[in-house]
Order: sequence, then C-alpha cells, then structure tokens
Amino acid sequence: MKNSKKTLLIIGGGFAGMTIITQTYKQFNIILLDQKSYFEFIPSIFNCFIHPESIFDLTLQFKNSKFGILFIQGKLTHIENNIAFYEGGKIEFDYCAITIGSNYTHPIKSNIPKLSDRFIELKKTQQKIIESSTILIIGGGTVGVELACEIKSSYKSKTVALITKSKILSTMPKSASDYAKKRMNDLGIEIQENYKGHSLNSNFDLVFNCKGNSYESVRLDDNFEMFDPQKQFLVDEYLKIRTNPKVYCAGDICLSSQNETKTAFSAEMQGEIVAYNLKHPNKLIKSYWIPNTYIISLGGWKAIFVFETFTFGGFLPYLMKLFIEIVVVNDFRGVFGFNTIHQIMNYIVYFMLYIYMIFQLLYAIAPLGSKIKQDQRIELKRIQQEIEEFKKQ
Ligand SMILES: Cc1cc2nc3c(=O)[nH]c(=O)nc-3n(C[C@H](O)[C@H](O)[C@H](O)COP(=O)(O)OP(=O)(O)OC[C@H]3O[C@@H](n4cnc5c(N)ncnc54)[C@H](O)[C@@H]3O)c2cc1C
Repeated sequence: MKNSKKTLLIIGGGFAGMTIITQTYKQFNIILLDQKSYFEFIPSIFNCFIHPESIFDLTLQFKNSKFGILFIQGKLTHIENNIAFYEGGKIEFDYCAITIGSNYTHPIKSNIPKLSDRFIELKKTQQKIIESSTILIIGGGTVGVELACEIKSSYKSKTVALITKSKILSTMPKSASDYAKKRMNDLGIEIQENYKGHSLNSNFDLVFNCKGNSYESVRLDDNFEMFDPQKQFLVDEYLKIRTNPKVYCAGDICLSSQNETKTAFSAEMQGEIVAYNLKHPNKLIKSYWIPNTYIISLGGWKAIFVFETFTFGGFLPYLMKLFIEIVVVNDFRGVFGFNTIHQIMNYIVYFMLYIYMIFQLLYAIAPLGSKIKQDQRIELKRIQQEIEEFKKQ
C-alpha cells in the first residue's frame, strides 16, 4: 500500500461499513477490521432457519472483496488518537469509521468468525426447530414477528406462541400492527400482548429471545463521557465522534441528533454521509433526515412495507425485499452495475419522501382551506344582510 492515498480504517463490515467501502475505495487505502470474516444480510436471516444453505446467497467473504481492501480479522478493543487496538495487534490510520453495529441474541445475529461455522450454527438451529413441537418467541417487535411468521408458515403443525410486554409492532403505524396481527392470527400463532406474568420458558421446547439490540463497550481515548447509557457513540452533525475529528461513526452504533430508527437502510444512508465527508474534508455535509422505512416479512411470500406512517401488505412488499436483498448483496460483492441500481433505489426512497411530505402538507392545508372558505361565507352573508338592511332603509 505504498502510494499517496491516505489510510482509511473501517471497523465493522456491515451495512454502514460496506457502503463506505463501495463509495471510497478509489480515494483511500482501505483497511477493514472485522471480528467476522464475512458480511451477512441480516434482514433475511430467518429464511436460513428453515433453509440453512441459503446463507451463502446472503453473504460475502471479505477476503474475496473486489474493492482492493486489506482485510484484518480481529475485534476492536479501543482507539487512542490515530491508533486502533484489537485483540492481536494495532492499526495506524489517517481516518477511521466505526461501524460495529449492535448485538442480538444468538443464533439470530452471530459473531462466529468463520462462515462455514455460521452455516453449522444455522443447521443446528434448523434441527432444533424441527425437533421442537412448541416454540415460544419473546418480544413483539419486527424481529419477533418475522421469526414467529417464518416458523409457523413453514411448520403448520407446531405450536408457536409470541408474548410481548406491549403491543405487536408497537413502534410501527397502527395499520402495520393490525395487518401483522391479522396475519399471525390467520397462521394460528398464539399472541399474548401486554404480558407481565412470570417466565414461560419451561413450558416450551424452544425459546427465542427477541427483545432488541444490545451494545458492547469499546473504549475511545479513555473518555467514557461520549457513551450514552446504551453504549452507542454520540456524534456531531457531520457524524464525527465528538472528541476525535479523524473518527466518523455510522449505523446501529451511532447516536445522532435525529435518533433515527436503527435499520439497514439508515445504516447505509449514514454510511453515504460519512463517505461523502471523507472524500470532501473541506465541504462537509450535515447528516440529513433519514426516512423511517422497513419491510417486515410475514412468512409464505407475504410482507408489510412501512414508509413513515404509510403501510401496505401482501406479495409486492415480499418481492421488494427479495429485490433489495439481491441488489445490496451483489453491490457489496462488487458485481458490475449493482452499485448504480442500489443508488437509484436509494434515490427512489428520497423521492418517495418528497411525495409523502407533499401529501402531508396538503393534508394539513386542506382543513385550513375549508376554514378560510367558511370564514369567507360568513363574511359574505354578513355583507349581504347589510345590503338588504340598507335597501330596506
Ligand atoms: C433479525 C433481524 C432482522 C432485521 N431486519 C431488518 C429489515 O428487514 N430491514 C432493515 O432495514 N433492518 C433490519 N434489521 C436491522 C439491521 O440489520 C441493522 O440495523 C443493520 O445490520 C445495522 O448495520 P450496521 O452496519 O450498523 O451493523 P451490522 O450490520 O451489525 O455490522 C456490524 C459489523 O461490525 C462487526 N463488529 C462488531 N463489533 C466489532 C468489534 N468490536 N470489532 C470488529 N468488528 C466488529 C460485526 O462482525 C459486523 O460485521 C434487522 C436486524 C435483525 C437482528
């Protein structure tokens, strides 16, 4: 790597990290540090609980990257000034992007280092599902709902129950929650909302914990003040770590002022902002609004598309998710043409945001318009009365 380019260290090759790689590999010498040797398209992981071999369609091995990066396998422990320390060594950088994401319970999200071992883990999970006749899912967010639907739609005779301390998809629009609940009822999933009772784990053959993301401690310059209680990194409006101007942050681990919902899409969008700022150090852009968009799989070729407060369900969202999976994985694999399709896809999302905002505005203005008309009618009536009275005189 002896050339005039600066060294960019990317820590974590997930959605945010891979987006930064695809957009900056021509300008920087890139070193990727990841505890795993592969990228995994997590949003479709439950398909691998039923068909483990499909993991190979959802992954790419960093050592085969076509972006000319240097891949080092290791787990980041801390960063001091411009040196990142990992279990086994240290790396000096000119710029760094921390994109280490979040953790989820095994086997849903895994930090198993080798892809072949991840495949074995998924095969074992499939076996456990096959052998269990009663399965409990704890948590009624997107992950819990997807998992319950995936299992029940594939194994109709099994008892699948889901308990949640609030409502199903409580953070999503009501229409999405209603659609998901109807689908779950149709599939025969037993749902218990607002569950405050004792643990039911011992009543079931298999239990999946789907209570949400967690974060690991990584130390930066011995300054713990930059952590929020959840251990995410606080960033400024340019997505820079507040105490180190050479270090950017994006994705699940990043706590920005928008406090956006943590999704693969928001990780990619933040990755794009970081990539732009790395390439234009004298023309930094501020983090822009990231729309809240999500596709929730409901098993059996059905899904719900959520865009801010707008939702629709059925076969089309299922196809959209499949299309996104193919585009994203092939873009990150460096397959020719897919980066352009991926970019167009992201522009379409922003175009939808503009349309959505126009509709919201019209909705807000419409009652105002009728109020003005009503006021005008009253005024007109008053003037007519005055004219009538004047005539009488
Ligand atoms: C089951 C499930 C389903 C989901 N479905 C959807 C969906 O349908 N749509 C959607 O938009 N979002 C979905 N999400 C959320 C989405 O997957 C995350 O928001 C997204 O993966 C975040 O991307 P990221 O780049 O921040 O981190 P990640 O994708 O988590 O990648 C982080 C990378 O950093 C590496 N890493 C972690 N710690 C270290 C360390 N200390 N040192 C070195 N490397 C490290 C990891 O190995 C990993 O490769 C889902 C999440 C789950 C768990």
